[in-house]
Amino acid sequence: MNKKVDDDIFKDGFKLPIMESFYTIQGEGFYKGSAAFFIRVAGCDVGCHWCDVKESWDSDLYPLLSVQEILKKAKNHSRMIVVTGGEPLMWNMYPLTELLKKNKFIVHIETSGSNKLTGVWDWICLSPKRRKNPLDEIYVKANELKIIVFNRHDFKYAEEQAKKVSKNCILYLQPEWEKREKIIPLIIDYVMKNNKWKISLQTHKYLNIP
Ligand code: SF4
Repeated sequence: MNKKVDDDIFKDGFKLPIMESFYTIQGEGFYKGSAAFFIRVAGCDVGCHWCDVKESWDSDLYPLLSVQEILKKAKNHSRMIVVTGGEPLMWNMYPLTELLKKNKFIVHIETSGSNKLTGVWDWICLSPKRRKNPLDEIYVKANELKIIVFNRHDFKYAEEQAKKVSKNCILYLQPEWEKREKIIPLIIDYVMKNNKWKISLQTHKYLNIP
């Protein structure tokens, strides 16, 4: 977090660095196929080598928007909002989510869980990353666990992570996009042998939408 502005703005969370926001179809996980307004918060300190949004990592590159400005962009689309990143939990998410909830939105987050959980969420998609594991507090609150499978070792990691979530948490294995041709057959085989898991695909990429 190296913004050259008053630290308090970030601690308070009333302004957030926003890389982009857009109305589209949620492509992944339990809500795939649902129209949703995405808010991509800039900044990530996890550093996955296969990350498909590396341009989100440096929050200094993006404008600071007030939560009211973000709300204005979100209005007149769908009721479902997905806050993603980057890693949104690098910032205090209470002001934004409280404002969205006050305006009757259903608010989802996609997070690695590697920072303190802040915000009021209707749905938490926890996608743990080996480079910076989630903090313990978030596991029991996750509604879905999404493990990105880049190679065979990720199945073992997936099982370790699945032990930490609640029994109601939905378990997904999702192929890393660039490796999908090699990984999808492995996931199919794994899920058929371990059927507590489901497959998640990045269907928005197949549909050629953001
Ligand atoms: S946590 Fe997400 S945004 Fe951050 S590096 Fe990993 S994949 Fe990219």
